[in-house]
Amino acid sequence: MQGEEDAGPEPGETGEDARRAPSAGGGTKTALAPGLWLVATPIGNLGDLSSRALVTLRAADLVLCEDTRVTAPLLARHGIGTPLRALHDHNEAAEVPNLLGRLRDGARLALVSDAGTPLVSDPGYRLARAAMEAGLHVSAVPGPNAAVMALTLSGLPPLPFLFNGFLPPKEGARRDAIARLRAAEGAGLSATLVFFEAPHRLAECLAALAEGFGDRPAAVARELTKRFEEVRRDSLPALAAHYAANAARGEIVVVVGPAEADAPGGADEVDARLRAALAAGESLRDAAAMVAAATGLPRRQVYARALEIGREGG
Ligand code: SAM
Repeated sequence: MQGEEDAGPEPGETGEDARRAPSAGGGTKTALAPGLWLVATPIGNLGDLSSRALVTLRAADLVLCEDTRVTAPLLARHGIGTPLRALHDHNEAAEVPNLLGRLRDGARLALVSDAGTPLVSDPGYRLARAAMEAGLHVSAVPGPNAAVMALTLSGLPPLPFLFNGFLPPKEGARRDAIARLRAAEGAGLSATLVFFEAPHRLAECLAALAEGFGDRPAAVARELTKRFEEVRRDSLPALAAHYAANAARGEIVVVVGPAEADAPGGADEVDARLRAALAAGESLRDAAAMVAAATGLPRRQVYARALEIGREGG
């Protein structure tokens, strides 16, 4: 069962073959199972490119990448001569049929993004989804991911967490997105929240988060795996004040602690959760079911209160 426990670059190979270190200067190509391989690359520190990633990139027939100017030097550094082709948000939909054809013909395609794990706020979902729906082999070589690294360094509860990618850059849309998260919290969500953010928007983003979520603990993780890596842990208002006074540089992840799980089931809490769920457009029945699940109270009791609130509102 070694192959099942230790899936190498090629299903069917032994784990030993899969762990074979690639030679720095190219050399013979290791066989790789046909299919689509989602390969994670470093988020800053080039030492984080795994040996499995190298084997896979070397053995692939084609490497699909977000930007050839980023991936070509990475491959050259390791003496990998696999052809490259750009696959990004602007051409992915158009390229899918052709790439599916290649996969059906038995091609080995590796997919990378500029940094980190492909598909995570990066291109590749459409192709991966289409390949799965077509019954083609899709696997991944896991590795760096800025969201998970920031979560683990934030000092905030790691489970459950909700990864949100980038908030909308425009103020109104960002406020609406934060209000939707608050409504979900009102209906019972209690998760650590993870956001990507650009440095020039960090201060305004933190101000909006502080306005929406109040005095919650949070963390700003910057330049992860790089020379000037920094994780600043403080309340949202304090972080907002800090970055309003000190412009941030580099790549950034913002992590926000979960909504307080107050003694569940208090009358105020039930009302607040019900009102938020109803305001978010849930039916009386669904709102009651969600709040009952979140508080552990009997559904009938919560539904009766939802009816009262519904009457007050009408
Ligand atoms: N797919 C990538 C991953 O798995 O981490 C994320 C790609 S997304 C387009 C790029 C954003 O990720 C950056 O704007 C930043 O918010 C975050 N990011 C990427 N590298 C980072 C790093 N070294 N330190 C902090 N944040 C990083």
